[in-house]
Amino acid sequence: MAIQSLNPATGKVEKTFEPHTAAEIEKLLQQGEKTFQQWRKTNFTHRAELMRFCVGELSGNTEKYAQIITLEMGKPIQEARAEVKKCAAACEYYAAHAEAFLADEQIKTGATRSYIAYDPLGIILAVMPWNFPFWQVFRFAAPAIMAGNVGILKHASNVPQCALAIEEIFLKAGFPKGVFQTVLVESDGVDPLIKDDRVKAVTLTGSEGAGAHVASVAGKEIKKTVLELGGSDAFVVLKDADLETAAETAVKSRMINTGQSCIAAKRFIVEKPVAEEFIQKMKTKMAALKTGDPASEDIQYGPLARKDLAETLADQVKRSVAAGAEIVLEGGQKDKETAYFQPMILHKVKPGMPAFDEELFGPVAAVIVASDEEEALLLANNSRFGLGGSIWTQDHAKGQKLARQMESGAVFINALVASHPEMPFGGIKKSGYGRELSYIGIREFVNQKTIWLA
Ligand code: NDP
Repeated sequence: MAIQSLNPATGKVEKTFEPHTAAEIEKLLQQGEKTFQQWRKTNFTHRAELMRFCVGELSGNTEKYAQIITLEMGKPIQEARAEVKKCAAACEYYAAHAEAFLADEQIKTGATRSYIAYDPLGIILAVMPWNFPFWQVFRFAAPAIMAGNVGILKHASNVPQCALAIEEIFLKAGFPKGVFQTVLVESDGVDPLIKDDRVKAVTLTGSEGAGAHVASVAGKEIKKTVLELGGSDAFVVLKDADLETAAETAVKSRMINTGQSCIAAKRFIVEKPVAEEFIQKMKTKMAALKTGDPASEDIQYGPLARKDLAETLADQVKRSVAAGAEIVLEGGQKDKETAYFQPMILHKVKPGMPAFDEELFGPVAAVIVASDEEEALLLANNSRFGLGGSIWTQDHAKGQKLARQMESGAVFINALVASHPEMPFGGIKKSGYGRELSYIGIREFVNQKTIWLA
């Protein structure tokens, strides 16, 4: 079946692409392997120079790439521009730091000399999602390539133009053909790639189901995986919090990328004495947001990336309401023929309801009232996911104490959960394993080799 680039704001099929044939995929793997044997021998200065050409290409053509993102998955254009800029920053970060992160590490032992060397692995397969169609890819590619690996990208089937544009960026930057390649296949084309001996490891960002499948196939092949899956991040508001800032950040976090972010706040756990005031503030701010054509400058949220995602979200809301949740802010999928979904707030959400137990990948905020901070923490940890979380309190010592007890890969105190190149990013529980970004991220796809001189 052809791979379609469909504009979710209009429903119009913009372009179709034929999936790569088996012969084309074989060529791509051969190219990747051949290039790797040369690329691994290059030095960091050379790699950094090319990576900085990527920075130039992204920074000089932000508008062009932002428009492709918005066209294919409906992200508001200002957010698409910010995404392209963030990619440029990640490329710059690893251009500047990869050499130090992967320098030989001397270890004191009984040997004359003993150290850890970080060698590249080879072709890394990246199975990536549509929600941040540039960022998710660069977050993997910049460190992996700086480490001396080469990448093959299998992007989500609804963003083929983004996938091809990213391949072009690496070629324009002067990277040898084969350092970064896009393979156009649907999800059923992933298994044979994982099983191919030339592919050495896999990274996947996406749903729990896709992660479990890919990890099981890779596990059978004894290949390393890094999984960045879903989340149902808790946003804990304690009674001493700055409610105005908390509510403002709550709305921003829930609405970023029209609610389609793994680290969006999804469960708003609020201490009882401030619950009503917090909900009212959130409601006022959420109701004031403007929607429309994502390509226009003055909107804050657009359509979801696909109509089926809006339908899934509507069904999760319906099942939560049937189980006792109350709608505080009306919204939802008003026109069943489109991917637009207006923001909603659900109140009186409890464990056992889809709004608590599942990931709501769209603009629906689930509010849960906690009697005190102990219960707030128990509720926050009562999730199959463990990606991020935030705590709102003016007591910094208390905030940090609770942060240490929160079961997640990251906790932000009085701040929006976001990824930063300097800090590791990833989850625990069903949110996945392994880390991206920082010096830890670049060491995921290398052979951490012991060298011992007697
Ligand atoms: P998927 O997890 O299905 O897609 C993510 C990537 O995985 C795509 O490239 C997809 O390819 C691929 N994929 C899917 N299934 C398999 C498989 N069995 N084997 C190999 N590759 C596979 O996400 P959806 O687009 O269907 O979104 C569904 C839900 O997933 C969302 O509502 C959200 O909850 C979660 N999600 C989380 C993301 C995050 O950032 N953590 C990002 C995206 C989704 P293809 O497109 O060809 O199917």
